[in-house]
Amino acid sequence: MIRITTAVCIGFLSVTANAQSILIENVRIFNGVDARLSAGHVLVVDGIIRTVSKSTIDAPDGALVLDGANRVLSPGFIDLHTHLAGQNPASMKKYHATVAGAHAASMAKHYLDSGFTTIRDAGGTHPDFARAIEAGTVYGPRLFPSGAVVTQTGGHGDFRSAHEPHPTLVGGTPYLNHDSSVLADGVDQTLMAVRENLKAGATQIKIMGGGGVMSTFDPIHSLQPSPAEIRAAVQAAGDFGTYVLAHAYTSEAVQRLVENGVKCIEHGLLIDDATAKLVAKNDVVVSTQLVVYRTLQDLPGISETNLAKLKVVLAGQENLIRLIKKYDITTGFATDFIQGGYTMLTRELTERAQYWTPAEIMVQATSESAKVIRMIGKLNRWGTFGEIREGWVADLLLINGEPLEDISVLRDPDNALALIMKAGDIVKNRL
Ligand SMILES: [Zn+2]
Repeated sequence: MIRITTAVCIGFLSVTANAQSILIENVRIFNGVDARLSAGHVLVVDGIIRTVSKSTIDAPDGALVLDGANRVLSPGFIDLHTHLAGQNPASMKKYHATVAGAHAASMAKHYLDSGFTTIRDAGGTHPDFARAIEAGTVYGPRLFPSGAVVTQTGGHGDFRSAHEPHPTLVGGTPYLNHDSSVLADGVDQTLMAVRENLKAGATQIKIMGGGGVMSTFDPIHSLQPSPAEIRAAVQAAGDFGTYVLAHAYTSEAVQRLVENGVKCIEHGLLIDDATAKLVAKNDVVVSTQLVVYRTLQDLPGISETNLAKLKVVLAGQENLIRLIKKYDITTGFATDFIQGGYTMLTRELTERAQYWTPAEIMVQATSESAKVIRMIGKLNRWGTFGEIREGWVADLLLINGEPLEDISVLRDPDNALALIMKAGDIVKNRL
């Protein structure tokens, strides 16, 4: 048995635990679901939570034994809306893809060091980046990539300038901006774009389902794409056993998306009561974000057009939260930071306290988001995570302070997190 005392620090190097047992003693467990803590001990074997017990657990031979010293043990956090490949500052937008990759790697590190063991990329990041994380080439959370966002011509993912010709019309590739979006018009192009993403390794599909703030050509009220195109995307994704998430704000857009099979709405800030009811009735998720909308106006180079659109959607934020609560809509935890804004990550945890209790926020960032990730069905080959339960993946955080009483302790993860474990690998140990 190797006993680690509080004076010993393993540091930031990943300690491969996949052939070993780790016993975490004396913790108060937040299991990801219940608002109350329960005192106990947790044994991890081969990256899986083997035993959760109120009584002392005998350490297996060779086990690493950690004294949790009565800290709170939580499942690792999950963010349902990232854009790893969308972090070039505006001044670097036209730089080569390697620069976007460097920013993506910095963001991935920031996330894991902040206790986020899983993220769903809401488009733009190639699935190869998930493979690079899995291979250990890039340090970061488990990544569920959507591949290139699928957008109609002139839609929210059309990043061209007004005078640029349509690439397909001039014999080029329909992929824009380092393959972060793909122009698809009509059922056939939509089927191909979705299948191409799935072929590349996307675990779910992102479509642009209505006007957006940071794009140039599409007013917020615009409907994108046609019902037949939405159904094509849903069918191609469904044939792989997975689902479509769609960017949208307005009631009209969300109704069209839900009626044609989309299972997860991104943002949704302008929906009305009847639409929220429809969403709830169809078990559709509304993954929304607070901080990004409150800070976008500070982005260098944001245009007057973008600012005007921002004002319109931001006005709907409070009403959307009210509807999410009223109809008990699954929302999870999501951020949507772009152009380097990801350093505000933990602000999304703390600002939610305006509307939700610390326990509710912790549930959103763990078990509730994990349920959304699991909508990929049989494509999930990473095991079940997001709760502290026997047989589940050992994504674990040991937290200093009382996050269920004051979520703001998580604002500074460097001091707040004493231990970060991803699938049994200790990536940080300050015990
Ligand atoms: Zn986004």
